[in-house]
Amino acid sequence: MSTAPSPLDRLARPELLRTDALIGDAWVTGNARFDVTDPTTGAVLANVANLGAAETEAAIAAANNAGKAWRATPAKQRAAVMLKWFQLLNAHADDLATIMSAEQGKPLAEARGEVGFGASFIEWFAEEGRRVYGETIPTTDKDKRYLVLREPVGVCAAITPWNFPIAMITRKVAPAIAAGCTVVVKPAEQTPLSALAVAALAREAGLPPGVLNVVTGDGPQSISIGKTLCESDVVRHLSFTGSTEVGRILMRQCAPTIKKLSLELGGNAPFIVFDDADLDAAAEGALISKYRNAGQTCVCANRLYVQSGVYDAFVAKLAEKVRAIKVGNPFEAGTTQGPMIDEDAILKIERHVADAQAKGARLVEGGHRIDDRFYAPTLLADATPDMLCAREETFGPMAPVFRFETEEEAIRLANDTEFGLASYFYSRDVGRIFRVGEALEYGMVGVNTGLISTAEVPFGGVKQSGLGREGSRHGIEDYVEVKYLCLAGV
Ligand code: NAD
Repeated sequence: MSTAPSPLDRLARPELLRTDALIGDAWVTGNARFDVTDPTTGAVLANVANLGAAETEAAIAAANNAGKAWRATPAKQRAAVMLKWFQLLNAHADDLATIMSAEQGKPLAEARGEVGFGASFIEWFAEEGRRVYGETIPTTDKDKRYLVLREPVGVCAAITPWNFPIAMITRKVAPAIAAGCTVVVKPAEQTPLSALAVAALAREAGLPPGVLNVVTGDGPQSISIGKTLCESDVVRHLSFTGSTEVGRILMRQCAPTIKKLSLELGGNAPFIVFDDADLDAAAEGALISKYRNAGQTCVCANRLYVQSGVYDAFVAKLAEKVRAIKVGNPFEAGTTQGPMIDEDAILKIERHVADAQAKGARLVEGGHRIDDRFYAPTLLADATPDMLCAREETFGPMAPVFRFETEEEAIRLANDTEFGLASYFYSRDVGRIFRVGEALEYGMVGVNTGLISTAEVPFGGVKQSGLGREGSRHGIEDYVEVKYLCLAGV
């Protein structure tokens, strides 16, 4: 192991660095460990418990055992524990951000932002859990009364990605536990340390043992944990955020037990700039939407469509902003883009850039690696629909800019994908804002903004981008079953 100082040496509370999994009230070491590495340097940060099917069964049993008391706990009391958890996340935001930047590579300021964003789901759902109301339905028979109860679904599983190591967990766990469910989380193998730190703070907040369990594993072990969660009869709901490809596998694995499913999958977001747009605002929106988190965001603008009258001006404005991105160590002040998560991520961008250039795209900025672990912020002009980057998520700091002539053409091009997560457009024409906003086949539309996520709004996709919504009052629905009580003889 390297003797160079680890970024984790700077933790104010070193005990937040947990490397064992949480099952019930036990921190489980397991028989094997796996390395978590720093994407900035390649150095090993920690060795984490590499668990599998047996420990996952134990975690499901712990969640099941805890479920009876937790669902009987009044919502107000559940909310009180959650609000304490929310406060602890904020109180330890610096340490959580340090852990996240170390294992994920996003700039420290962005990591701090994610801690706040992740914590906000806990606060929102603590409050929302108190409003899981039932109904009474006017009777059709004078001797009967109809009641509707809304009950927790039971044990839930959450499988989460590495790109938002905290927010993707709290966005699932918070509505689940607010509704009275208990949860087993399998975090991404690249970023288990953030998940374990957040779980440690949940225990500190007074969340009873077994309400939240975190099972860590790598490679084949990770797949085996996922399979066990999907195939379990006890687990009644699976929430997954990740690629569409893995979403399909998990959906198939869940079929025999007919589980409820929430899927937040891949995107291929269009970002349309009409000729009546405020171009400076559009360039700024494109920069934020495309390049934050080094382009590793599911709602990232993936395809920029610009109307021909403003095409050259927009490309010039965006190029200037792209040139100003500061690539470097996430812990250095002023860094706005860190390393890519791994070599595969860089290879995918290289494939997209080479393919686009071979098919006639013009390189405006970047287009190369920096020091092996980083990829230069890249801008390509004259992109066309036959290029790979028009069909697949690049998931990196590369923006291809396509040209269009009419509103109808922009809508047709934007909708020409099997994905339907986020979309964006810039226009100052009110009629156009309504027309285009309604015509885009996406779960989310940002109008004159590149940033749309917050705990108060429904986040999710249509088509092959997923099922269900997270955040907002809708985000708790997947964790609630509707039960009808027919009272006769009254
Ligand atoms: P991924 O699908 O490879 O992995 C996500 C999670 O699934 C990880 O925990 C991984 O360990 C696990 N996993 C992978 N194969 C598995 C299997 N066979 N069985 C069980 N679990 C398995 O995705 P990723 O590379 O971590 O994340 C990037 C993808 O996630 C992108 O496509 C991105 O668009 C998508 N994403 C979507 C959203 C959203 O809200 N829609 C948010 C973030 C990321």
